[in-house]
Amino acid sequence: MHCPFCAHPETKVIDSRLVADGEQVRRRRECIQCGERYTTFETAELVMPRIIKHDGTREPFHEEKLRSGIQRALEKRPVSVEDVEAAIVRIKHKLRAMGEREINSRVLGERVMAELRQLDQVAYVRFASVYRSFKDLDEFRAEIERLSPSSHDEDSTQ
Ligand SMILES: [Zn+2]
Repeated sequence: MHCPFCAHPETKVIDSRLVADGEQVRRRRECIQCGERYTTFETAELVMPRIIKHDGTREPFHEEKLRSGIQRALEKRPVSVEDVEAAIVRIKHKLRAMGEREINSRVLGERVMAELRQLDQVAYVRFASVYRSFKDLDEFRAEIERLSPSSHDEDSTQ
């Protein structure tokens, strides 16, 4: 970009860092002609849909809320930060790809469950049990049984 002091077309970036939880890139620039320094902030213009809550109210999509919900389900589970972040990226991508300005919170919940199911089945059941608030123990047990066909296979081969 042009230098805001002398309008020279070339500046060099002397420092670059992520700010606002990685939502922004802060760049320190220096004009190669006049030597003035200034800062720019870059933000991606991809807009997340708003979330329609159960009571019909709308709220902005909060990535931090999503992350803490996933982390709570994954507490003390052997899943890396990288895998969690990759799942969050996929969830956000899916929501954007729907091209809706507003989406039901249920849709977001289902996406989270789909990701957790791939990451860690214990975390999946934890999240699902809170999210779906299983009406009774049988329903909960049925869900767990549905999740572990492999253990049945092992039983039958022994
Ligand atoms: Zn300049």
